[in-house]
This record gives sequence, structure tokens and C-alpha cells, in this order.
Amino acid sequence: MPELPEVETVTSGLNFAIKNLIVKKVHVNRYDLRIKVSNEITSVLNNLKVIAVKRRAKYGIIHFQNEYSIVFHLGMSGRIVIDREIFTPLQKHDHIAIELFKKNNKNYKLRFLFRDPRRFGFFNIYKTHSINYNNLFKALGPEPLADNFSIDNLFNKITKSHSNIKSLLLNQNIISGLGNIYVCEALFLAGISPRTEGYSLSLRQIESLYYKIKEVLLKAIKEGGTSIQDHKKVSGEIGYFQNYLSVYNRENERCYNNCKEQIIRFKQNGRSTYYCPNCQK
Ligand SMILES: [Zn+2]
Repeated sequence: MPELPEVETVTSGLNFAIKNLIVKKVHVNRYDLRIKVSNEITSVLNNLKVIAVKRRAKYGIIHFQNEYSIVFHLGMSGRIVIDREIFTPLQKHDHIAIELFKKNNKNYKLRFLFRDPRRFGFFNIYKTHSINYNNLFKALGPEPLADNFSIDNLFNKITKSHSNIKSLLLNQNIISGLGNIYVCEALFLAGISPRTEGYSLSLRQIESLYYKIKEVLLKAIKEGGTSIQDHKKVSGEIGYFQNYLSVYNRENERCYNNCKEQIIRFKQNGRSTYYCPNCQK
């Protein structure tokens, strides 16, 4: 499932491609996505300029003129695909297509598609001012790469709980944007066992975790995200962070710390956790 670095890769690529372009036409192939697509999407966006494409947690947000925004989530298998000049026929899983043009260049054509074979994602239109009060957004925790994400804040939230640190970091109300891959990686880099209960972590451990979360996310963004399953950039290229994973997806392989242990995988709260039993206490 796409996490912060994958969504950031997609939104920054889309922003680069469509910022300042103007909507010519919106075509919807399927309305019954995880959230039903509002009918007005095909009418209200015409002739509106794209102001910017941003990311919040694991959501992409496309801001348009006139206070309209599209919020999308890539679910498990969702992708944004960009076509330039030549628009090939839509495929079965291309649920929404938006054509755009340049104000001073009528010949310039670009189209982007929301493609999602498994349909766990969504793509819907909202009034921009309503987004922060939307149920999707209102309880989200801080962005780990933003200024308002602090060690104190993380320490207070984590040490209040008897849950294991793995599930606490996956909780989007505590910190937003992390999923299974980057939680496993950050815990390895910080030397913390995924089984550790939140209340038992020291300030020093939380401090280490805080910096390792940022480090792993920044490196993953730089590499264009992790392409183990479906993630691709809007250009169709894959990301490369899978080449830098320390524990995730490395069951029975040797720990890179040269500690002679193998990476263990076990089920934790219903999901696979990867860790080194020697390096993570
Ligand atoms: Zn190890």
C-alpha cells in the first residue's frame, strides 16, 4: 500500500505536470469507488486552473480555482497515469480521466488518469474549505516532515499507551503517513523492538525514533518510493527504495548490521512485521 514517500512521489510528479493547466473535460468511467464519486465532478471543474497538487498523510489533493479540490487515495493498487499528446483508449481500470490544456497554447494536450484495478482507492471532489473538517482529515496526526512534528509531541502520545510501538506508529492519529514498510524500517534503524510497549520507551529512544523516521522518509522520497507491488511514478517509472530496505520484505535474509542474525517476520495485529531480534531490543 502506498505510504507517505510513494504518495509524495506521485503528488510532486503530478504537480510538476499539471500546475497552471486548465481543465478541458472530466470523464468518469466508474462512480462506485471506495467513496462514491460526486456527479458534479464532470461539470464544475471545466475551465478551472490547477493551482497546486499537494499531499496530506497518504492522500493527494489537487487544488483548483473557485475553491474546488480533488482528494484522492491510491488504496492498494491505485496509480496516477499521465498521457501527453496522444490519448490511448481508456483501459478497464481507468476510472477517471481529466483532460487539460495550456492557456496560451491550444495545441498542448495532457490527460491524467486515476487507475485502480482493486478499487480500494478513491478520487472525489470537495469544496476546498471543507477538507480540513472532513472525517478523512480532521483527526490526522502531525506530518513527520513538518515543523509541528516534535519529539515532545511524539513522546507524550507514545508513552501514554500500553500498545506496542509498531501499532502506535501505524496509527494515523498519532503520526500521519506511515505504513508497514516505513514503520518496520524506522524501528530497525532506531534499534527498537516492534513488540515494545509504548509506555516503556525512554525519551532517548523516542528521540532516536523521531530522527530515524525522518531519515527513512526523506531517503525514500529521494529514491521515488518503494516499488515492491504496484507503486509507479506518474511517468510510469518505478521507485528504487526497495534496494535500500533493511528489514521489510527480507525474511530469513541476513541482517545488514553484520550481527549474524536473520530477519524475522511475524504477524502483529494482523500484519507482517519484519525485524532483527539481535539489533532491536
Ligand atoms: Zn541485526
